[in-house]
Amino acid sequence: MTQATLLKISGLKVAYGGIQAVKGASFEVREGELVSLIGANGAGKTTTLKAVTGLQPVMAGDIEYLGKSIKGQGAWDLARQGLVMVPEGRGTFTRMTIVENLQMGAYTRNDGEIDADIEKVFTTFPRLKERAQQLAGTMSGGEQQMLAMGRALMARPKVLLLDEPSMGLSPIMVDKIFEVIETIHGQGTTILLVEQNASRALALANRGYVMESGEVTMSGSGRDLLEDPQVRAAYLGH
Ligand code: ATP
Repeated sequence: MTQATLLKISGLKVAYGGIQAVKGASFEVREGELVSLIGANGAGKTTTLKAVTGLQPVMAGDIEYLGKSIKGQGAWDLARQGLVMVPEGRGTFTRMTIVENLQMGAYTRNDGEIDADIEKVFTTFPRLKERAQQLAGTMSGGEQQMLAMGRALMARPKVLLLDEPSMGLSPIMVDKIFEVIETIHGQGTTILLVEQNASRALALANRGYVMESGEVTMSGSGRDLLEDPQVRAAYLGH
């Protein structure tokens, strides 16, 4: 069965003033997949996600979502269409409670199923349920990452973009976060995962891409990339 391509990035170029951060990157994400984008610090992964979600202007190339170019569309419009990012550093509303943060995640919706979806998020993240009335800013880094992911799920994403979800977390929390990513993917959400933890990200991925100096230099199944000698030497430390 051929899966529909939900997101197609072709020849993407993004610059900050005179600095070219992304220099013609191409890749795609198909329905139901978990695709990992790995690469060193400064390779252009975050910039790529920002361009995809309308937070950074596209200098050249195209971004198609659900078969149509979305170049120039803003983050709010894209979220409403189901293209939702959990940014690096999480960006939770620190002075709001967990429940209020989750309600904010549904701001693009006007249906009557928001409370039911909060309960679903609580099933995926029991830790958030225990702390429903706690202020987000008083939670640990791992808990805030869970909240940021829960909040994104409240928008009912068709494609969920995760930027470095494991960054700065303790090993136990890293395990938990990858477990939850696997669960969310298992529930049918298509995911584009940007990670520096290449071994964990590729182990979960259907497919992966390697980004170096603003370009996509390798692609393959998660397993093939994990076993590739060049990937092992550069990103897995063996
Ligand atoms: P990391 O894993 O460290 O976040 P990354 O692969 O996500 O790395 P980007 O954050 O996309 O990389 O950065 C790509 C390049 O663009 C880097 O050289 C970075 O210094 C530069 N860059 C990123 N944001 C800005 C900005 N706001 N202004 C100027 N240059 C920037």
